[in-house]
Amino acid sequence: MFNRTLRRITAMNSIVFMLIFVFFGTVIYGYVSFRLFDKVDEAMFHMANNFAIANGRFVPASRNRALFDPRIFILLKDDQERVINLFPRDELYVEGLGELVSQLPPDYIQTKNFENHSYRILDIPFMYQDNILHTQQGPIAVKRVIAVSIVDSEVASLRDLLIIIVSGLVTGMLIIVLAGYYLARRSMIPIQASWEKQQQFVADASHELRTPLAVLKSNAELILRHPSHTVEEESIRVTNIIREVRRMTKLVVELLTLARSDANQLEVKLEPTSVNEIVEIIAEQFIPLAEMEGFDLKVNFSEKLDMMADKERLHQLLVILLDNAMKYTPAPGEIQLTATKQGNNVMIAVQDSGQGIPSEDLPRVFDRFYRGDKARSREKGGTGLGLSIAKWIVEQHGGKISVDSKLGVGSKFSIVFPAKK
Ligand code: ADP
Repeated sequence: MFNRTLRRITAMNSIVFMLIFVFFGTVIYGYVSFRLFDKVDEAMFHMANNFAIANGRFVPASRNRALFDPRIFILLKDDQERVINLFPRDELYVEGLGELVSQLPPDYIQTKNFENHSYRILDIPFMYQDNILHTQQGPIAVKRVIAVSIVDSEVASLRDLLIIIVSGLVTGMLIIVLAGYYLARRSMIPIQASWEKQQQFVADASHELRTPLAVLKSNAELILRHPSHTVEEESIRVTNIIREVRRMTKLVVELLTLARSDANQLEVKLEPTSVNEIVEIIAEQFIPLAEMEGFDLKVNFSEKLDMMADKERLHQLLVILLDNAMKYTPAPGEIQLTATKQGNNVMIAVQDSGQGIPSEDLPRVFDRFYRGDKARSREKGGTGLGLSIAKWIVEQHGGKISVDSKLGVGSKFSIVFPAKK
């Protein structure tokens, strides 16, 4: 799939570059050609227009001789389309040129090749009143005047330019295709990585959903085997079903949170928040629970701690961390929740005296579906998504979360929230 997209992007880039190249090539060629022929055309036009025939001779009609060009020769066409050599008078410079000109359709200006030379030809009506040329064969009524100039050097320059443009286009295309492919490949790396991550996420999610579904199915089938049993008799299976449904509900809610956060559909609503208040609520909820499970939960917070935060998400964050501390600390144990100020930053830490995390696993604890001890996590109702959600919440507040842990001693999750977010 990525290879096809890669080829398509490369092709599209190359086509766009080629069109730009062709456009500029055409503009440059057209401009140079215009500049090269402009001078010749002007001189030809001047000579054809400003010379008159007086007493059978070709004479300047104006005093302006500046545009006189000895390269140009002038031919005349009479009313019977015969071509007469006029200037220079004596001989027809190029034999057969008269014939070529006589066959040309009258066109204002054109370039023609003849016997390995290129000629610029201007063909206009002859306007002077005294347009009778006296020849040995008698007077001739002149109808059109044709100026011809040899333009070999201009045509050669244009040919060279065309060769340069075309070879530039070919080399440029080659470079563009290679560079385009390389750049497209580079830009695809993060897209590919994120695609693969997403694929992995979907695969892991399906896998995680399969276990509770299998448990549900087997328990329901076992109940069906004894249709005469009472609910009381099947209470263990019914409890299993309810527990798995709870677990699945939690998993689905967490999956939805992460999927929405990936799609940027989930936003935190930042508002002025008293961290003290949230910590107090959490303490109220967790201290009795911790006591019941045999933990000593200590909650400390220093002076007034205010920050811009999403109250619900901040609460959710503390629940995840305290829940983990209790899940992975064998009772009796000690858990500490501390909220302090450092400079303008708000620091929150959750420390436990639990099993700890092996150092090689530390970089992965915030990964989705990562679970150090799958069986323990599952037994305690874990999904492997808690810390990924915690990290997302912290990052949405512009903060950072880190973990320090020693196997058998305990773990400490520390969060720094920047002051004015
Ligand atoms: P889970 O639902 O499995 O708890 P989490 O994302 O919350 O998923 O945590 C990922 C893993 O990190 C856990 O399975 C566990 O191995 C490890 N972990 C998290 N918190 C602690 C802690 N306080 N002490 C020891 N290990 C922890």
